[in-house]
Amino acid sequence: MGDGEKVTDQIDFLTENARTVLERRYLKKDASGKVCESPEHMFRRVAAHIAKAEKNYDKNADIQKIEDQFYRLMAEFRFLPNSPTLMNAGRSLGQLAACFVLPVDDSIDGIFEAVKNAAIIHKSGGGTGFSFSRLRPEKSKVGSTGGVASGPVSFMKIFNTATEQIKQGGTRRGANMAVLRVDHPDIMTFIRCKSNKSELNNFNISVGVTDQFMDAVSQKGDYDLIDPSSGKMAGRLSAEAVYDELVKQAWETGDPGIIFLDEINRFNTLPDIGEMEATNPCGEQPLLPMEACNLGSINLTRFITQKESKSELDYEKLKETIHLAVRFLDNTIDMSRYPIDEIDKTVKANRKIGLGIMGFADLLYMLEIPYDSDEALELAGNIMAFVQKESHKASSDLAKERGSFPNFDRSIFKDNKDPRRNATTTTIAPTGTLSIIAGCSSGIEPAFALSYVRTVMDNDRLIEVNPVFKRFAIEKGFYSDALMEEIAENGTVKENLNVPSDLRSVFVTAHDIKPEYHIKMQAAFQKYTDNAVSKTVNLPHDASPADVRFIYDQAFETKCKGVTIYRDGSKDNQVLSVSKKE
Ligand code: ADP
Repeated sequence: MGDGEKVTDQIDFLTENARTVLERRYLKKDASGKVCESPEHMFRRVAAHIAKAEKNYDKNADIQKIEDQFYRLMAEFRFLPNSPTLMNAGRSLGQLAACFVLPVDDSIDGIFEAVKNAAIIHKSGGGTGFSFSRLRPEKSKVGSTGGVASGPVSFMKIFNTATEQIKQGGTRRGANMAVLRVDHPDIMTFIRCKSNKSELNNFNISVGVTDQFMDAVSQKGDYDLIDPSSGKMAGRLSAEAVYDELVKQAWETGDPGIIFLDEINRFNTLPDIGEMEATNPCGEQPLLPMEACNLGSINLTRFITQKESKSELDYEKLKETIHLAVRFLDNTIDMSRYPIDEIDKTVKANRKIGLGIMGFADLLYMLEIPYDSDEALELAGNIMAFVQKESHKASSDLAKERGSFPNFDRSIFKDNKDPRRNATTTTIAPTGTLSIIAGCSSGIEPAFALSYVRTVMDNDRLIEVNPVFKRFAIEKGFYSDALMEEIAENGTVKENLNVPSDLRSVFVTAHDIKPEYHIKMQAAFQKYTDNAVSKTVNLPHDASPADVRFIYDQAFETKCKGVTIYRDGSKDNQVLSVSKKE
């Protein structure tokens, strides 16, 4: 057994919710639909499959040793790869990546090729992002028939219907991102395309704004619309009017979000290969067309040590995990079966990976640091700077063993002394399901409530009490069932006199935190993230459109790559809610 350590197949701790999610979606089932593997078996299956890649580089590699290391990485919940890896590794589908971006060309062939490719990807549990910016606008001429084009939004409906019909092999529903450049002539139709809440339900939408547009907004000027089929100017709009409409729609329904295209492309490590025009469904992964990326997240709550009776983060242990996680994700590229040849080629030429973190809000609770404090922002920066530095180092180390990614000489790194195995290494994912499996808070989001009802995929409802809060309450002697119930009613302890005052400022939840702190936190993490950061800025129900606009402006000024807001109660099918509805 490799280094002689005894490896037991015991996993650390699984919450009831984690077990439920795993049984419903992740564990193997037999022909009659009965679960036929345990969570331990699942991690073993994944570890064994991912470790096999070692043989590609070293015929004498001690595969068992690496497999055991990967197993412990997951079974101790220090790190989890994205859902498709957990679901499909070592199984017949074999597709392991969560994020894809597909090109949509301005032709019937091109459009339906993209619909087909999206369907194949959804079947395997991946999410797809598209830029519809190349499609000619509504009512423009179609050369071959003399008819008129129906425009990006009407084609999006076809993608939406196709997604609806493919229930992803019984695992996930399918998720899409549609991006349209702000200078596309159909931009107003796009901005309003989700105002009817029952339409385009399988899409998140984002307006791709440019620096030029943001300048025009600040100068209250007009800007040019460009017809993508001719490259010619096709009209002018008031930037202010478009921005106002965008803000109003987002305020009303949560859609559209914004992505900042120029900021994204300033960090494109492969500008000679292409321009990034779209992201994956939740926005954290900008990609070139026909690229995919597998993500993985480190659970920060597993890295706490006690020093002189104070809790602190164990950076040595974190470092070891980062290096192993980078190896895991790099192996995953080789072990994934990509559904389309061109994706296989692009992914293997660029070898992008996206390592991020989850459990940040719980970590802050454990360290007794309020989320909305300068200390929390500083810690965020320190942690992510560390993850980024060490993941780059791990990628260089791997390149010394395995070679740089094939497009290295066409990348921005080409003149560096250090080789690189991966064109990017860091991304902060939402970890919607991973965080349930690991039993920690999701991504970098503050806890939504200290006790709440969670609707997971397809309306399964689960009830959760924050485990860190519960532990504190018991240790400090103020725990009672009645108090927990009272807190569950409104989700916050901010004004609850039964909770010690110093803890009331520590145990803040999403709606206790001023929106601008959400953006400050996103920016603090973005500063040290190669790709992007998944973050939703939560606003109270009574927030105004002006509040939304302020958030968008802040996101642009602080160099976020995009922004998503959500005003409480503005969607019928809300993902998270406190148990008492207003
Ligand atoms: P998880 O926790 O399940 O691994 P995340 O919530 O971190 O997933 O989401 C990461 C990415 O996975 C998303 O941005 C998207 O690309 C993809 N994804 C998430 N949910 C779905 C879904 N239901 N169908 C397809 N892809 C999805």
